[in-house]
Amino acid sequence: MNTFTKEIMSVGEMACGTKLTVPVFSFKAEENSSEDNLSAVNTAEQSIAPNVYIQANMHGAEVQGNAVIFQLLELLQHSELKANITLVPYANPIGNSHKSGEYTLGRFDPITGENWNRMYHFDQSIIKPFAEQHLTSSEEEIKARFEQLVAEQIDAKLAPSVWGLSTGQRIAYQLQRLAHKADIVLDLHTGPISSKHLYCAEYSKASAKYFNIEHTLLIPNGFDGAMDEANFCPWWYLQEAFVDLGRDFTMGQGIFDKEAYTVELGSQEQIDLDVAKEDARDLLTYLQYKGAIGGSEYQPKEMTRYACHLKDYKTYYAPMGGMVDYLAGFGKPLAAGEPLARILRMDVYGDSSINKENESKALHYVSLDQTVLPILHFASANVTQGSELYKVFTNYFEF
Ligand SMILES: [Zn+2]
Repeated sequence: MNTFTKEIMSVGEMACGTKLTVPVFSFKAEENSSEDNLSAVNTAEQSIAPNVYIQANMHGAEVQGNAVIFQLLELLQHSELKANITLVPYANPIGNSHKSGEYTLGRFDPITGENWNRMYHFDQSIIKPFAEQHLTSSEEEIKARFEQLVAEQIDAKLAPSVWGLSTGQRIAYQLQRLAHKADIVLDLHTGPISSKHLYCAEYSKASAKYFNIEHTLLIPNGFDGAMDEANFCPWWYLQEAFVDLGRDFTMGQGIFDKEAYTVELGSQEQIDLDVAKEDARDLLTYLQYKGAIGGSEYQPKEMTRYACHLKDYKTYYAPMGGMVDYLAGFGKPLAAGEPLARILRMDVYGDSSINKENESKALHYVSLDQTVLPILHFASANVTQGSELYKVFTNYFEF
């Protein structure tokens, strides 16, 4: 049975001085317990399994990932560990405790309004000079030096400074310091009311089917501050910079075998430990495929998988305020003209200015003019005009 270590990482302080802390669970690879082998991991020998980092609950209401990490901890104790695996539940102690009435908020910093998952660090200006400087370096040296450079940048951000850091940056950078040591990063989130779906960089789409998730969003290279991007963008830009300089590297292969995903595990504000066990097994299917755990216990399921490019992931905004009866289920194609939802407007019910034929105007059916795949919808029946009513795949394809 494998044992794990548990550390408590401090990520900030409340006004009364109480530390804001995050638990960090770590498994060490079976073969890699000596210092020698750990440094070998860092120099990227091809035979060495990738290091893994998994976190959950950066957004306060998105709690299922904590249950998944619980199940992963249970299962990994009996797995053949080929990689060092770090697991961080409750990644954001402020977001996690940000309540209003019975509801958890925690998607945005309540003071600044910033999205907690948009505060990670990436400095694109380091890429080109690094590629120029290491144009003829060995692959092992490129990997080790670039990992070091990225880590040094985060350390420098976290070092005491005259001007300090925002609350959100401090949390994000502490997590990022752990994540940067990994070759595989899984950031566990949920939608509001949502199907399971995966944000996947386009270069790593061959891996997507190992997650046992039916819906995949393919995202281009671009940094918008999120954890997944913070981990793959530096490498993707570096690979492109080398190609521009004439050195032939492929993103996703060799030293550029770096993968990071945002995994959307369903709906917010709920955990289901039985589903979490399935979710954990689904993540282990991917980790086994990547060689992070041994054996052949976890196999991808037969399912119809749909993908859509990020530009075709559309938001349908509520055309009016009202009370919404959400009709479209998730994950099944919804034909053009079929209703997404009906919006109740009691304020015009029985209104004498509306003639008999239009009496049903108190009830508005809303639909789209093309076939779509509904992925998630707004969490409340009470919507103002312009609320994000549904998010849907358009121009989707099986893959
Ligand atoms: Zn989220």
